[in-house]
Amino acid sequence: MAQGNIDALAAKLLHHYGLKLLPGQSVVPEIVSSAVFHLPGDPANASHVYGRYHNPTWEALEGALGVLEGAETLVFPSGMAAIGAVFFATARAGDRILLPADGYFAVRALAERFLVPLGVTVDTRPTAKFLDGGFAGYRLVHIETPSNPGLDVCDLRAAAAQAKSAGAILSVDNTTMTALGQRPLEHGADVAVCSDTKAVSGHSDTLMGHVATRRADLMERFKEWRKFSGTIAGPFEAWLVYRGLETLEVRFARMCETARVVAQLLAAHPKVKAVRYPGLASDPAHAIAARQMLTFGSMISFTLADGPAAERFIDGCPLVQPSTSFGGVRTCAERRIRWGDSVPEGFVRLSIGLEPTDTLCRAIESSLEKL
Ligand SMILES: *Cc1c(COP(=O)(O)O)cnc(C)c1O
Repeated sequence: MAQGNIDALAAKLLHHYGLKLLPGQSVVPEIVSSAVFHLPGDPANASHVYGRYHNPTWEALEGALGVLEGAETLVFPSGMAAIGAVFFATARAGDRILLPADGYFAVRALAERFLVPLGVTVDTRPTAKFLDGGFAGYRLVHIETPSNPGLDVCDLRAAAAQAKSAGAILSVDNTTMTALGQRPLEHGADVAVCSDTKAVSGHSDTLMGHVATRRADLMERFKEWRKFSGTIAGPFEAWLVYRGLETLEVRFARMCETARVVAQLLAAHPKVKAVRYPGLASDPAHAIAARQMLTFGSMISFTLADGPAAERFIDGCPLVQPSTSFGGVRTCAERRIRWGDSVPEGFVRLSIGLEPTDTLCRAIESSLEKL
């Protein structure tokens, strides 16, 4: 999709909710916290029945996210709840599913601890070689691109073609880019999932996730899963994410632009090794990234001499918050080995926030000088 069309979507998103308003109704969606709805007689006549089935505040958020995704969208109380919905609504005993070996660790843990005992076979492949061997025999193929935390990239169009010829469902975790930065459904994926805990809500103050698909059969299953498993978002949290989503476009643009500048700074610095940022022309993922991503994201990974050096860099920079997660207003960093990711001791994942670009660059440079 061209940038002009993305801009049109970002603008439409801001006005979508207002289109159906009647005179006197609030321009901002309301937080509806009712568990029950007025329900005389036949429930088929009511727009809302029970709080586990539907909620007007979720619907406002789903409407806005749906504009961005260009597909029907369902919200879940976290990114993992959204990925769990994809797994449990599609995988059956005897099926094989394929996951990234180097993606978000909880995705593998969920599949290995809960799907394997139900009779599902779970295989993994590194993101950079994900297409090798094809997808024959897989019911579900789930990829993450760029992968978190290594920032390797998988060719979405080729993956979609392979999934189609193998009859596999292709699900893409688009958390690191959001639908503004990468459009898996337009590359042919069946499902896009996103942890809205990150850039979409953007303020590190709530958890949320969503699933988007143009396939009615899959959407039906996801809705059933949510209704019967009860993995539902709280109305207040949905409202917070709606509020964050309204500024996603400006926040994400600043974050990605600063990340581009910081990545160049790091790549040229003698104390920094193995910088990965898909926007660097020298990055092994750059050619595919440039074809399928609209921008190059807000995350950078790199390696310092050893674990203590990495800790000193993080602690020594007043504009880097030592914390997990990414996509928030504050730049933050962590050593991913502390979660068991298979990365070197000195490997740092840096998530760029909203600090003014030059100010952040100077702070990062001075923390590196002190190493
Ligand atoms: C954070 C993250 C998740 C999980 O999201 P939660 O909202 O924490 O449940 C899934 N995938 C990726 C790529 C993530 O970064």
